[in-house]
Amino acid sequence: MSEQKVNWFKLSLELHRKYIGKIEVVPKVPVTRLDDFAIWYTPGVAEPCRKIFREGKDLSFDYTCRWNYIAVVSDGTRILGLGDIGAEAGLPVMEGKALLFKYLGGVDAIPLVLATKDPDKFIEVVKILEPSFGGINLEDIASPKCFYILEKLREILEIPVWHDDQQGTALVTLAGLLNALKIVGKKLSEVKIALVGAGAAGLSIARYLIVAGANPKKMIAVDSKGILHPGRPDIDKLKETNPWKYKLAMKTNAEGRTGGIPEALEGADVLIAASRPGPGIIKKEWIRKMASDPVVFTEANPVPEIWPWEAKEAGAKVVATGRSDFPNQINNSLGFPAVFRGALTVRSKKITDGMCIAAAHALARYAEKKGIHEEYIIPTMEETEAFVEEAIAVAEKAMEEGVARKKLSRSELEHEVRELIYRSQKYMKLALEHGLIEPY
Ligand code: NAD
Repeated sequence: MSEQKVNWFKLSLELHRKYIGKIEVVPKVPVTRLDDFAIWYTPGVAEPCRKIFREGKDLSFDYTCRWNYIAVVSDGTRILGLGDIGAEAGLPVMEGKALLFKYLGGVDAIPLVLATKDPDKFIEVVKILEPSFGGINLEDIASPKCFYILEKLREILEIPVWHDDQQGTALVTLAGLLNALKIVGKKLSEVKIALVGAGAAGLSIARYLIVAGANPKKMIAVDSKGILHPGRPDIDKLKETNPWKYKLAMKTNAEGRTGGIPEALEGADVLIAASRPGPGIIKKEWIRKMASDPVVFTEANPVPEIWPWEAKEAGAKVVATGRSDFPNQINNSLGFPAVFRGALTVRSKKITDGMCIAAAHALARYAEKKGIHEEYIIPTMEETEAFVEEAIAVAEKAMEEGVARKKLSRSELEHEVRELIYRSQKYMKLALEHGLIEPY
């Protein structure tokens, strides 16, 4: 396995050097004669400018590419598992994200890395950028400032703001869990859930599970210092330094359990771990102490907290990880392209919790229709129709909740979403056939 990883790294470096960038801007209007420029640029372009000026800023969604443009913004402070490596060093990841946005969701995404670590400056810059974009995807920002930045931007912007490390992970985890619980015949509102890791992913997973119907009193969260509970010595400090974790400590763990991961796992129906790369973070003997038919999601990348076969040997009924080489991959890429596709198609002002939960249910439903079993609880990234259904569910929820600027019927929505999602695949085929993109 490590052999293969070294090869991926080497190949990736070589190919990044060869192609020098993973996305480019291409025209989407016909240009066949000189006069065309008088339409797309001066003098003709003055008329859409005057119209937006006279009739309102929202018309920029109808007369420019703003409606389908988002910014992928990072300060480089927590790039993948590499830590605070800076804005420039984080740029390859933001570009990669932009590629996935386009290829999987038909969303035009611009990578933007900011040379500041100050959260208030970051917020100010994004606010100033708002007129250029239909949405903002925050990426790889250190915790806990990522919570503050997301909350503030969601409050002050009139376009959707999303932090993929939080909401994306939570959405896909919820989708997988909904189906895993169907397999073991248990209800979300009744299960005992142990959450290992209370960072960007863990805190957001906890929040969305509760919004979707999990009982916080039956949840026990653990971080690197042990189980969260109101009597923990650092609890008062947490109130200041990480109010999000503090709030979770206050509303979970009604039994008042103390200790670490083994104590949290005793009798639990579900384990969701998003802590640090394993193996060995979760031990087989701890899984044996869980309730019957336990569900085990170990999401750390690149190596899960326990290997899936070890979890199975210890009695886990359904196992999911973050990896594509094992069954049941919990991966953000199943979430963000379709969520933005849906939100942008109806020019949504927000991505609400309701829209995220609708996306999770749509993903779960798609897999269920195909036939779920222990090794298939969630669609894979190759199942394009799952993205279509998810995007439609998000757009419908946005219209229902009154945050959409545009109303579309079910059939209009389906047509637009499908066209945009498949457009990139068609483009790729053509570009490869015509030598505009060189194969490697
Ligand atoms: P983070 O640094 O914000 O949070 C990590 C949390 O884990 C912290 O609360 C920390 O105290 C806790 N922790 C660390 N070691 C622990 C231990 N031994 N026992 C208990 N708790 C421990 O990081 P994050 O962004 O939340 O990501 C956490 C992990 O989840 C990473 O490995 C990341 O790759 C993975 N992740 C996977 C996906 C996915 O889609 N599969 C998505 C997001 C994150």
